[in-house]
Amino acid sequence: MIAPVHSLGPGERVCLWTQGCRKACPGCIAPELWEHTGPQAEEEMLARILRETARRNGCRGLTVSGGDPMEQSDALLRLLRYVREDFSDILVYTGWTLEEVRDGRAGEAGIECLRLIDVLVDGRYDRERNRPDCVLRGSENQKICFLNPALEEEYRSYMARGRILESFTHGDTVIVTGIPDRRMEA
Ligand code: SF4
Repeated sequence: MIAPVHSLGPGERVCLWTQGCRKACPGCIAPELWEHTGPQAEEEMLARILRETARRNGCRGLTVSGGDPMEQSDALLRLLRYVREDFSDILVYTGWTLEEVRDGRAGEAGIECLRLIDVLVDGRYDRERNRPDCVLRGSENQKICFLNPALEEEYRSYMARGRILESFTHGDTVIVTGIPDRRMEA
């Protein structure tokens, strides 16, 4: 979790990365998050930490990336129910398309999550279609789905600025957030 982040959606945001993705897209920027292993966070406690992190950093937005958060849709749904009222804008990334989620590929919980998400960035990453003008997306086949149309204008103004990368230091580690160009792929 990092905050405040400005490179993964408009305004000040708390960003959370979930562990686990089986889609294995060539060139994925986060293969270290593919394994479905590690301790499972308790959602109510995680929600409290997100809320407190948002309060301390003046964040109104939440971005959930991964991994693929929809590959643990039951846990995602519980978390979103806890934090829905705390954030005016919730953006979630998934490697499934919106149509696949609606068809139940992420289970009933995945369908239910769509009611609590404002913006879904969908689809597998295609390294051949990574273009610098794909803001908020890794490749042009991925779609920015405005499930809450009230946020579309704010997102369009934000996206007009182009891709943004930010770096954060955590001890000896430098963490880069945002959508990189293809030459920075894993
Ligand atoms: S869906 Fe996303 S996290 Fe999963 S392999 Fe593809 S790019 Fe990586």
